[in-house]
Amino acid sequence: MLLALTAGCSSGAGAVAAPGAVAAPEPSTSPGPTTSVPAGDPTALVTAAGGRLRGKVVVIDPGHDGANGRRSRQITRKVWIGNGRKACDTTGTQTNAGYPESAFTFDVATRLATLLRAQGATVVLTRPDDHGVGPCITERAAAGNRAHADAAISIHADGAPSAGYGFHVIIPRGIGRNDAIVAPSRRLGGTVRDTFRHGTGEPLSTYTGTRTGGLVARSDLGGLNLSDVPKVFIECGNMRNPADARRFTSPLWRQRAAGALAAGLTDYLTGG
Ligand code: ZN
Repeated sequence: MLLALTAGCSSGAGAVAAPGAVAAPEPSTSPGPTTSVPAGDPTALVTAAGGRLRGKVVVIDPGHDGANGRRSRQITRKVWIGNGRKACDTTGTQTNAGYPESAFTFDVATRLATLLRAQGATVVLTRPDDHGVGPCITERAAAGNRAHADAAISIHADGAPSAGYGFHVIIPRGIGRNDAIVAPSRRLGGTVRDTFRHGTGEPLSTYTGTRTGGLVARSDLGGLNLSDVPKVFIECGNMRNPADARRFTSPLWRQRAAGALAAGLTDYLTGG
């Protein structure tokens, strides 16, 4: 199977990981979605004193899935995304050393879920682990709609040419059916952009969104076209860039990234 490297991991136009070739080179230290907060953990204090997000529903969508590369027929089947047809899902990208995007996004997502739940939010993840296939991008959007999410975020990391680095946030461009979420999603994109930049030190992308403050409006992503709730994608950086890859493979940095995303979502959800 010939697979091409594409700049946008979420473009759906191509995929990079060879089937069966993905295994995380380091053990994940992330707590699973059902892991309880250990005694003495600082987040426990947030639980006691916080609750700022009580009553809020957040859907977190970790991009891709760990077994997608072994089920190419299943994930490359075309689905309707509101203005055309596109692959159900893609394998995503990986660092040059083989750390898969799906493992990265799932790790950050579970860390983010823990932080949001500690503040009282109800959190739904679009996949329970990093060993499965899919779900299709249509289902990832439907998860947010079903939950009547106050906000939804899809977490990715890019597979751009290696000289480029930095992060960008993708916001929906209206295609008619999703016009109502364009403005609130732009606001969500702005708060996430600001907190991610300040919280992680990661610069804005050097290769896209450079004239629009790191916000890139797109109408080719099923996850945004089919969403009825405010939603953004974040491409946390470029997995093919050595400096970004070093950050992504650090559990400390991933925790910082999750904290920054939690802050951006909280700012949006509390009107900050
Ligand atoms: Zn991706």
